[in-house]
Amino acid sequence: MRAHTPAQEHTRARARQDAFWFVHRRKLFPPPLLPTYGARVNLETPLAEVDVMPAPRARQLERFGLPTVGALLLHFPRRYEDRTQFDHFPAETGDRAVCVCGVVKKTTLRRIRGGQRMFDVLIEEEDAGAFGGRLVCRWFNSHWVEKMIAQGHTLVVHGKPKVSAGNVVIAHPEFEIVEDDAEQSIHLKRIVPIHAATEGLTPRVLRRIVWDVLERLEDDAVAQLVPPSLDRMPRAWALRQMHFPKSWDDLAKARKHLVLEEFLAMQLAVSAKRAELKSERGEPHCGPGEIMRQLHASLPFPLTRAQQRAIVEIRDDLASTRPMNRLLHGDVGSGKTLVAMSAMLLCVESGFQAALMAPTQILAEQHFLNFRRLLEPLGIRVSLRTGARREDAADMPLFSPQSESADSDPHIFIGTHALLYEGAGISRMGLAVIDEQHKFGVMQRARLQGKSGEGAVPDVLVMTATPIPRTLTMTLYGDLDVSTLDEMPAGRGRIVTLVRPPEKLPDAVKFIRTQIEEGRQAYIVYPLVEESERLEAKAATAEFAKWSELLAPMKCALLHGRVPPEEKDAVMAAFRSGETKALIATTVIEVGVDVPNANIMLIENAEMFGLAQLHQLRGRIGRGAHKSYCALFTSDDDAESLEKLRILEKTGDGFEIAEADLRLRGPGDLLGTAQSGLAPLRLGDLFKDADLMKLARNHAFLIFERDPKLELPENAGCRTLLADNPRAILSQVS
Ligand code: ADP
Ligand code: MG
Repeated sequence: MRAHTPAQEHTRARARQDAFWFVHRRKLFPPPLLPTYGARVNLETPLAEVDVMPAPRARQLERFGLPTVGALLLHFPRRYEDRTQFDHFPAETGDRAVCVCGVVKKTTLRRIRGGQRMFDVLIEEEDAGAFGGRLVCRWFNSHWVEKMIAQGHTLVVHGKPKVSAGNVVIAHPEFEIVEDDAEQSIHLKRIVPIHAATEGLTPRVLRRIVWDVLERLEDDAVAQLVPPSLDRMPRAWALRQMHFPKSWDDLAKARKHLVLEEFLAMQLAVSAKRAELKSERGEPHCGPGEIMRQLHASLPFPLTRAQQRAIVEIRDDLASTRPMNRLLHGDVGSGKTLVAMSAMLLCVESGFQAALMAPTQILAEQHFLNFRRLLEPLGIRVSLRTGARREDAADMPLFSPQSESADSDPHIFIGTHALLYEGAGISRMGLAVIDEQHKFGVMQRARLQGKSGEGAVPDVLVMTATPIPRTLTMTLYGDLDVSTLDEMPAGRGRIVTLVRPPEKLPDAVKFIRTQIEEGRQAYIVYPLVEESERLEAKAATAEFAKWSELLAPMKCALLHGRVPPEEKDAVMAAFRSGETKALIATTVIEVGVDVPNANIMLIENAEMFGLAQLHQLRGRIGRGAHKSYCALFTSDDDAESLEKLRILEKTGDGFEIAEADLRLRGPGDLLGTAQSGLAPLRLGDLFKDADLMKLARNHAFLIFERDPKLELPENAGCRTLLADNPRAILSQVS
C-alpha cells in the first residue's frame, strides 16, 4: 500500500468518520414517533401551501417576513417559559422576571389622574388554599387587555414584581390566557417558546403555527449544513428543539448547532474572500530602506517597539509578490501615521507611487502638512488631491527613484475621495494606504485598489483606530492580515475624564479660562443637529455665540461639516498655530486631528454619542506633555446611561471601551449601522459565543485548505451556506 502523508491520512480518517455518521445518524436520532398529520412539507414549502394554513394567515405571515417553512423555523423564539414548573408567587420586589400561573379572582377598572385608565387584575395561586399567593397585574390605558381578561380565567403571567401600597404588582406583564382545550399540550406543561410577535400574531398564535408546521416537516428533506466533524446534531432535530425543547439541555445543544451554522457561514465567506485575495497577482514594491532610515533618524523620538514590529511585517508583505492586504490597528495616538509613512517610503524607493486616502478634508490637509514637513527635506515630492484643492510641491531637491518616472511626478499622494477619480495622475500605484478605514464604503476601497492600471494590484494597508474587539476582528477583518500597535509612545500626558451635570458648566468654564491663560487650547464639542442644513447652521451659530461669550475675550473659532473647505483650512491653521484658543466643533474633529498643545475637551450632551466615538474624540487631547482634561457633560440622570459614561472615567484603554460598547449596543452601532454591512446575527452572540466563533473559523480554514472549491460531497452543506450568505462581504464593507 502506498504511504500517505499525515495530512492525507487525516483527510481519509475524516471522510471515513463522516460516512459512518451519515449512515448511522438516523439510528441515533430517530424522527419523532408521534403520529404526524397532513401533507408533508420541507423548508422550501411556501406557508400558503401548508394544508392547515388559512390563506389570510399565510399572507399575514408573509408580510411579517416569513414566506416559507424555512423562514418560519428560523424565526427563533425570543425567550422560553418553563411551564412544567411555575415560579412561586413572589412576596417582594425583584430584579428577575417571574413566570407564574393563577386564577383571576377580581378585575377592577379605575380612572385616575388626567383621565388615565388603570386596570387591575387580582390573581391567586391555584389549589394552594390558604397559603396561596396573590398578586395584581396592572395595565394602564390598555383597552384590548380590559376586553380580554375576565374573572375565572387562568393566566400565565411573566414580568418583574414590585411591591406597591401593600400589594405585589406586575405592571404590564406579558400574559397568556390558558384555554381549556386540546391545545394545552402545546401551551402548557412544557418549556414553551415565546416568539417575537406582531399585531394579530400573538406568541400563542405563532406557537400554534410553528407546531402545526413542525408536525408536517419531513426531517429527511432537511439538508445537513454543518459538517458532522464540527457538530453532529441533525439540523432538523436542532430546528425542532429550538421551538419546542424537551429540556434546557437539549435547547442548549440545538442552539449550539444553529449558532455554529450561522458562524460557519460567515467564516466560510471570510475564507473564500481570503482565498480570492491570495490568488491575485501582485508585484514587489519594496526598496532598500535608506530613505526610511533617514526619516527615522530625523525624528526627535525613537519608534515604539510596536511601530518597529509593524514596519517589519509590512516590509515583508511589500517585498513579496503576493499583494498585501493588511490592517494596521491601534488605539488613537498610537502612531499609525508614522508606520504608514515608512511603508510609503519603502514603496517610493522601489520606483512606485504611494497614496494615502483620508476620510475628511481636514485630515487630508493635516497629513499633507505633516508629510511635507518630514519628507521634503529628504527629497520626496508630496502632492495633495482633495475635492477643494490640488497642490503639487514644486521646486524641490529631487530624489530620483530607480525607475523611468518623469522627474516632476509626485512620489506620494495625499487626498480624500478625490484620489479615486480620474485625473488624479497616479500612474504607477504601488501602495494604497487608507486611513480610518471604517469611514469608507465598499466601492471606494475597491476602486482605490483597482488604481494601478495594468493587471497587477497594488499593496493595500488599511488603518483604523476603532479598537476592534478580537471577536469582531475575526469576523470583519478575517480576510486581512493584522498588525497591532499595542503600545503608546512614551511621555504622553495623562487624560483625566469626568462626567458632569449641566450645573457644573460654570466651574468648567472657569477652569478652561485658567488653562488657556497658561497657554493651552481647548476643544468644545457639541452634538450635530442633522435635521436640515438650515437648522444645523443655526445650532452651530448659537453654540458659537454662547461659547464666544463664555470665553471672551479669548479667540474662538467654529468648525462643522458645512464650513466651506478653504475656510476649514484657515480655521485649522489658526488653531494649530495657537492663535485660536478654543475650537467649537462637531464631530468633524473626531478622526485624526493632531494638535498637541490642546489639552482640554468639553463635550456637551455626551449621552448622544457612543462610547467608542467619545473615546475617539477624547483621543484629540493627551497628545502633548501637558496633563489633559476631558469633561463629559450630560443632563441625562438615567442610571444606565451614567454608568455607561463612567466607563470612560475609569479606563483609557480603547479595547476595553470597545468591548463595553459592543456589549451595550451591538456590533452594528460600533461600526455605524449603515456602514457595518453585517446582518444582525440571528442567534449567535459575538461575546458569549466567542469560542464557537473560533471553532467555526478554524473549521472554515481547514475546509478551504482541503477543498478550496468545496467540491467534496461532505462539503455540500458548506457550499449551500456560502451561496446563501452573500451578506458577508466583510472588510470590503465597513
Ligand atoms: P494615530 O495612531 O491616532 O493616527 P498619529 O499617527 O496621529 O496617531 O500619532 C499621534 C502623535 O504621536 C503624532 O503627533 C506623532 O508625531 C506622535 N508619535 C508617533 N510615533 C511616536 C513615537 N514613537 N514617540 C513619540 N511620539 C510619536
Ligand atoms: Mg491617525
